Amino acid sequence: MKIIMLGAPGAGKGTRAAVIAEHYKIPHISTGDIFRANIKEGTALGLEAKGYMDQGLLVPDELTVKILLDRVAQDDCRDGYVLDGFPRNIPQAEVLDRELDKLGDAVDYAINVDVSDEVIVDRMAGRRACLKCGATYHVKYVPPEKEGICDKCGGELVLRHDDAPETVSHRLKVYHEQTKPLIDFYEAKGVLKSVDGTGDVKNALKDIVDILG
Ligand code: ADP
Ligand code: ZN
Repeated sequence: MKIIMLGAPGAGKGTRAAVIAEHYKIPHISTGDIFRANIKEGTALGLEAKGYMDQGLLVPDELTVKILLDRVAQDDCRDGYVLDGFPRNIPQAEVLDRELDKLGDAVDYAINVDVSDEVIVDRMAGRRACLKCGATYHVKYVPPEKEGICDKCGGELVLRHDDAPETVSHRLKVYHEQTKPLIDFYEAKGVLKSVDGTGDVKNALKDIVDILG
């Protein structure tokens, strides 16, 4: 099963993708996580990606597409995967389509996690990420047990550069201009499904299983 998560930054794609991945036993592939891992390791890719990410811009397609295609070509992706953060514009979606088509394959579902801009802004301002393992929390909605400390690994929780308010408004603009058109793109292919992104995360699995079976 090949699933794509759509939605604004901070809509909760990642949380839902993780639930899907666990339930269907397929890898959860987040391009944002791949970039952040590279930044942490100080690779050339990480260095290049960071410049764009900190400004709320998309990392150029040449870089992003190559990374994604390498990742989905790995063995653990044979039975499918859930993509979180890719594609983020029509050209990326077209490359993915073309590559899948070569294998006689196609995207099974594109799940749009629907949330208004106002909710997004509120969520991002309170979002905190673990410096060590990348886990995310929210000061109001998903607080860690101990303030400022990651439940999973004990790492320090910080406001990510790209969650700073001015970067968030830029990311939303990029979302509306470049990513939102993917909703129509996948609707036209008959694979679009929608979930309410303001629904309780505890019901995320039920919401998804209701849709995907
Ligand atoms: P969010 O969904 O909250 O925006 P992500 O972790 O998915 O967070 O992405 C963080 C940043 O990584 C994006 O703002 C962008 O700069 C970069 N990025 C992630 N995926 C892509 C992609 N498919 N194409 C271009 N840039 C990407
Ligand atoms: Zn952690």
